[in-house]
Amino acid sequence: MSFKQLNLIEPLLKALEIKGYDQPTPIQEQSIPHILQGRDIFGCAQTGTGKTAAFVLPMLQLLTAKAKQGNGVRALILAPTRELALQISDSITTYRGQLPIKHTLLFGGVSQRPQVASLQRHPDIIVATPGRLLDLMEQGYVSLKHLDFLVLDEADRMLDMGFIRDIRKIIAVLPAKRHTLFFSATAAPEIMKLANQLLNNPIHVSVSPVSSTAEAVKQAVYYVKKEDKRLLLKHVLTDKTIEHVLVFTRTKRGADRVAKDLNALGIRAEAIHGNKSQNAREKALQNFKQRRIRVLVATDIASRGIDVQQLSHVINYEIPEQAETYVHRIGRTGRAGNSGIALSFCTNEERPYMRDINKLIKKQVEVVAAHPFS
Ligand code: AMP
Repeated sequence: MSFKQLNLIEPLLKALEIKGYDQPTPIQEQSIPHILQGRDIFGCAQTGTGKTAAFVLPMLQLLTAKAKQGNGVRALILAPTRELALQISDSITTYRGQLPIKHTLLFGGVSQRPQVASLQRHPDIIVATPGRLLDLMEQGYVSLKHLDFLVLDEADRMLDMGFIRDIRKIIAVLPAKRHTLFFSATAAPEIMKLANQLLNNPIHVSVSPVSSTAEAVKQAVYYVKKEDKRLLLKHVLTDKTIEHVLVFTRTKRGADRVAKDLNALGIRAEAIHGNKSQNAREKALQNFKQRRIRVLVATDIASRGIDVQQLSHVINYEIPEQAETYVHRIGRTGRAGNSGIALSFCTNEERPYMRDINKLIKKQVEVVAAHPFS
């Protein structure tokens, strides 16, 4: 299947060609035709599946086809974190190509002044985190009366992060007649409840359930004492083929400690977690993306929304208590068809978590028996 067969218009095909995508991913293949026909979508898909393009491409096409009336905002994309909102905004810039569609990005933790100024330039699309959007709506800077499109991206995470009240307030002022696209990595009952309230006779699309993502990634586990993990990490990183690695810790303090230890050993590393300012997080992420640092140490929450192309390795410095978290973590490597490597450091106390993981992914992660700290 090619993008052309999905009936996308020439400017979008051109942008995809420049980006180097030759075929749609399954979520794109399954969603784009329905969205172009005006159907609501409930998409069960996590990051890494190509879901952003699955909604951005048809949305751009439909906005282009319909003449603009007045200066109102025509599409709203809600995302849980600044990082994800930024990624969506970058995707719009990429896929839009030469199309005359303007968008803006609203998120909290920074001055609202430039955002207010950008709203006065009458964007067609707003990408926003719920809190800041609501704040600007309440101050009268945003009107969504003429909205055609609503997208909720990572709705499950928005609920986890406590955005439900903000979301409800935003939705209350939207036109009832609109096109709504709803994406979530899980279909938990409270997600379905929200989806049912928002969607009108939606098409359900579901891709790569969490347990199958793991198949593309080579995995191995090192059994090690807690006090030796530091040295094991150093030992593993002597392998120069590990050029660029995301290391996961369970706690914020753990992330800071690992980054500090690595720097002391002469390995450039930075930590990102929720206690750091958004600017510090973004700077660390940029340094990592631009390969100025070799190791990024992250907690699970902070790592969400990290989209780094060709991330070859992920290391679980600590084993997560939830087996699904393991699958999400290792899904950071091996994205969109690239294969990746995931290494886990497991203490005796963490063995039960590893057992749960093996059960979820329906295979035994290979054990590295011979290592200096076994
Ligand atoms: P997403 O799930 O939207 O976060 O996308 C995951 C990654 O896949 C991003 O880096 C996209 O740029 C990339 N991607 C999206 N669609 C395609 C495609 N059709 N072919 C190759 N890569 C893609």
